[in-house]
Amino acid sequence: MNSLQEKFISANSRLNNELNYIIQAFINFYGEKHRDYIVNVLRDLKVIWYDDIDFKEEKEIRNVIVTPLPEDQINEYLKKHDKKCFSQSAYIDEIDVLVLPLSYDITHIIHEMNHKISSHTLSLEPLKIISGMCTSVEKNGGVVQENSDLNEAINQKMTLEILDELRKLGLEIQYTPSWQENMFPLINLFYESFKDLLKDLYISGDILSFIKIIGTENYFEFSQTMFMKGFRVKRRLIKGKIPIVTEDDVKEVESIVALMQNFICESKMSEDKRKI
Ligand SMILES: [Zn+2]
Repeated sequence: MNSLQEKFISANSRLNNELNYIIQAFINFYGEKHRDYIVNVLRDLKVIWYDDIDFKEEKEIRNVIVTPLPEDQINEYLKKHDKKCFSQSAYIDEIDVLVLPLSYDITHIIHEMNHKISSHTLSLEPLKIISGMCTSVEKNGGVVQENSDLNEAINQKMTLEILDELRKLGLEIQYTPSWQENMFPLINLFYESFKDLLKDLYISGDILSFIKIIGTENYFEFSQTMFMKGFRVKRRLIKGKIPIVTEDDVKEVESIVALMQNFICESKMSEDKRKI
């Protein structure tokens, strides 16, 4: 038995042993009312494990991945998709596959499972997917994504809370920080203000209702601003610099969140008036 197989047996059996706890942690985070949905989505997982322990870029992809999925299915995936997708933690919506690290990095595992929870495929050809706040639409042979960085930061915020739920269930959690956390100062107020709405959005994929509640104009302004600021954070990270989010950046974003809060208050007031 080679060492890749050994690592696979250990990671795979650990996931099988912990899956019920993981499902319960997701239910505790999203709420009991979503139990059926969560159990359904997380019960049968298609997982490809990649070797992040002895990771070498130049290795043949088949030498770094291992999976219980059938051989011909894997060949099919490898033919159609960029091989790079299978050598880093990911959830690949189109084929509903989780790519997870053999080191069993639980932060990565929960983060990717949360992508799976929030992924709603509207159409495969042309590709149209809503994943939390991120929308992916196929256009002219490419895929255009909106709110990708913003959604990554929100997903990571949720991941930390789900890890806390796992701790409460008695699991020992070794947490690893990730790049998305550099964006946390920008989204703290947004996340705390609309956490319940965001949870519902993740479960339902109903982005239109979410936009209607916080106000269409506010949504687009927020999206645009977060895109610019997220872009800057990522560019600095790629260049190996410390990503700086200034107080002014935070103020600018939070002023839009205040507009959203006002919008919700005003809609509630006018609704109450209508009831009278
Ligand atoms: Zn992600």
